[in-house]
Amino acid sequence: MNPSDLAFDRQHIWHPYTSMTRPLPCYPVVAAHGVHLQLADGRQLVDGMSSWWAAIHGYNHPRLNQALQTQMSSMSHVMFGGITHPPAVALCRQLVAMTPQPLECVFLADSGSVAVEVAMKMALQYWQARGEKRQQFLTLRHGYHGDTFAAMSVCDPDNSMHSLYQGYLPTHHFAAAPQCRFDDEWRPDDADTLEQLISQHHDSLAAVILEPIVQGAGGMRFYHPRYLQRVRELCDRWQVLLIADEIATGFGRTGKLFACEHAGIAPDILCVGKALTGGMMTLSATLTTRDVANTISNGAAGCFMHGPTFMGNPLACAVASESLALLAENHWPAQVAQIEQQLRSALLPLREHPAVADARVLGAIGVVEVRQPVDMAAMQQFFVEQGVWIRPFGRLIYLMPPYVIAAAELQRLTDAISAALNQPALFQHQ
Ligand code: PMP
Repeated sequence: MNPSDLAFDRQHIWHPYTSMTRPLPCYPVVAAHGVHLQLADGRQLVDGMSSWWAAIHGYNHPRLNQALQTQMSSMSHVMFGGITHPPAVALCRQLVAMTPQPLECVFLADSGSVAVEVAMKMALQYWQARGEKRQQFLTLRHGYHGDTFAAMSVCDPDNSMHSLYQGYLPTHHFAAAPQCRFDDEWRPDDADTLEQLISQHHDSLAAVILEPIVQGAGGMRFYHPRYLQRVRELCDRWQVLLIADEIATGFGRTGKLFACEHAGIAPDILCVGKALTGGMMTLSATLTTRDVANTISNGAAGCFMHGPTFMGNPLACAVASESLALLAENHWPAQVAQIEQQLRSALLPLREHPAVADARVLGAIGVVEVRQPVDMAAMQQFFVEQGVWIRPFGRLIYLMPPYVIAAAELQRLTDAISAALNQPALFQHQ
């Protein structure tokens, strides 16, 4: 990339959560192979982010590339209205087989946020079909479900700045975030505010929506499986649907194929995305039980009212199918367990560091929560100079590397974090 491309980028192109007048620096990446991102100047960075939970097999994987090429040579896209095709059927078969048992009907969508919109619309239509006016959702503080309006309305009100869209955004109920950590002793009162809200509002609640076990973008918090079990019990007792957003956690990241498995529960509606295609293309899916699907279908509308142009895109389905096949073959439980062990031994001792408020690890996710907010641009530059790609935000420096990362590469990532903690200039100071 030449300098004029970078100048054009700064002048004309929005990046995630940045300003057009004061954009944060962007690093030009021209290729990616395995666990490395290659910068335009030739430097290779070890990737600690899996492109936001997605690239679980690393980049430029020959099997995933081949799946795309093979599919492209017969059909790249065709509308899904009135048409079906082998890649969609094959992928949905895999999804039904691998997700918790009662989930058997699949809606394919374009991105995680859209999968969440679809799930929420399904819950609304479900109750409408049953002749009940239930239009509210119950969710957790510190949650994150995407940036479209319905998804945003169930994100943490402070983190996602609900105040900006006040008057336009539907208002829902927020239970306190779980405090009992994944490996703490379970304290039953942790779910008290949720229990209170559900017992008080069940008549108007369409669904509880949450991220099972790991609250991701809203704080990288790992909560107790008993909390999730309790939510399932309460949803059953008060007859409220449960939507599990596994867009970040799905496909092995937390050490179980789906995070719901830590609690041995199944939701009524499940959202997956991100790693579904191994990070190759955008694709998501919303799965439901037969009961949810049939109730919606037998309602007044007679159908589910959603149908995106690129629904079931054959390229995305073909590469997702191959990614799920690779996942099975690659012995992900062993890969994730090994990453978890290494992250534990490298990151947990950092709890003693004066700059660190907490360090925690679950599956192939490692989090160092620091006391002062990071200076994002400065810390990002420091990491690039160390030869790693780690993108911190707020007070969180975290890793979720591709499952195929080797021990020496993972050590480069954890060493870089340790080194950053000793550089006061990389932190904001009040
Ligand atoms: N839900 C969760 C739990 C997520 O982590 C994300 C993305 N970070 C989304 C939904 C939204 O997905 P997308 O960015 O693909 O719209």
